[in-house]
Amino acid sequence: MDLDEYRLRARAWLEANVTGAEVEGASDTGGVTAAKTFMARLYDAGYSGITWPREWGGQGLTQAEERVFAGEAKDFTLPTYVFSIGLGMCGPTLVDLGTPEQKARHLRPLLRGEEIWCQLFSEPGAGSDVAALQTRATPAEDGWVVNGQKVWTSVAQHASFGLLLTRTDVDVPKHKGLSMFIVDMRAPGVTVRPLRDMTGRSHFNEIFFDDVHIPAENLIGQVNDGWSCAVTTLLHERLSISSGVGMGGQKDNPVAFESLRHTVDTADPVVKDQLVELYIRSRALALFNQRLSQETKAGIFPGARGSAAKLLLAELTMFQADLATSLVGPEAVAYEDDGGPAESIALAPAMSLGGGTNEIMRNIVGDRVLNLPPEPRMDKSVPFRDLKVSGGSSA
Ligand SMILES: Cc1cc2nc3c(=O)[nH]c(=O)nc-3n(C[C@H](O)[C@H](O)[C@H](O)COP(=O)(O)OP(=O)(O)OC[C@H]3O[C@@H](n4cnc5c(N)ncnc54)[C@H](O)[C@@H]3O)c2cc1C
Repeated sequence: MDLDEYRLRARAWLEANVTGAEVEGASDTGGVTAAKTFMARLYDAGYSGITWPREWGGQGLTQAEERVFAGEAKDFTLPTYVFSIGLGMCGPTLVDLGTPEQKARHLRPLLRGEEIWCQLFSEPGAGSDVAALQTRATPAEDGWVVNGQKVWTSVAQHASFGLLLTRTDVDVPKHKGLSMFIVDMRAPGVTVRPLRDMTGRSHFNEIFFDDVHIPAENLIGQVNDGWSCAVTTLLHERLSISSGVGMGGQKDNPVAFESLRHTVDTADPVVKDQLVELYIRSRALALFNQRLSQETKAGIFPGARGSAAKLLLAELTMFQADLATSLVGPEAVAYEDDGGPAESIALAPAMSLGGGTNEIMRNIVGDRVLNLPPEPRMDKSVPFRDLKVSGGSSA
């Protein structure tokens, strides 16, 4: 099918199947059930996992089809938020690094929205410096036993599975003693506590692991090679956050350009100027993302430039929220439960933290894109056991 025909079919499917009602209450249990029903329809129509391999449930198509679908989906609001971690990070990591058995078991239910996934990297003492994490996996009969705590874990309250980064060796430097596992979020010993953020909703959670058993076959990659697995996940994370591919659009975002231009006084030259700047920055980022995905298609891996795209999106989101705050008046603080400008404004700072902070993105761009001298790292060759880490002893 040529791309024009693909576009027409995708458009027709979206118009017939996205009513807007399916995003309501997207983070409560009823909303999640409706979102899962929608996701199954999206999958059955062939629009979930567009570029994923056919043998694992994907469509086996190219970035070109994915971009076409994303371009059409931008005019709709899809209820895909709870699936974003699985589709954008965990699934692509499994495609790259999973065993055939792991792929066969997990990828299709993930794509179809039957099983929600979360990413269990950050801890109270390990966010930017995630390699300092202290959650331990120790060998046991038939597998591993995990103890520790994670935090900031998005959508974990709805998740069936998580991608878990743990410490498996304290006698080697911190990056060399990590391993990655698939963890069943309903396993005995896993406690999920939702945390309320300033929107009033619970987008993320804290998770406690008390003697949680993980079967040996749930290891991803090799023992103690978890850092390179984590880097794979983080690269996918930055690209998926900045490009928003598969996530549906900004149509109903009350602080995005398309909404603001219809709700504010565009006859005012100052307002017009600010809107033009918002448009230019949004367009420049969209074109940069398009270039990165074209390069990926041509076999050129975007690497650390994905961090530049993520940084630009975080800065654009804050610019957009600041602009909306000055333009929409009392609505900027008058919080509506159905999500008005106030909710989007309150959510904006999250983009500068989640997926890596702006400072860390700048460090990566400076180090790996611009080849500036790297940050000094005193702890790179010291065994983890001998490091002072947040929360006390590392051993
Ligand atoms: C909405 C949201 C969703 C999230 N979802 C998930 C999730 O699903 N799974 C998950 O594992 N994590 C998740 N996170 C966690 C996120 O990855 C961390 O918040 C982030 O990595 C920062 O870690 P931290 O909060 O511990 O801050 P810290 O690392 O303690 O940083 C504090 C401040 O110090 C700065 N800083 C730290 N180190 C440096 C440095 N070397 N140079 C310059 N400045 C530095 C930071 O930029 C920041 O301003 C989420 C976060 C948010 C906000």
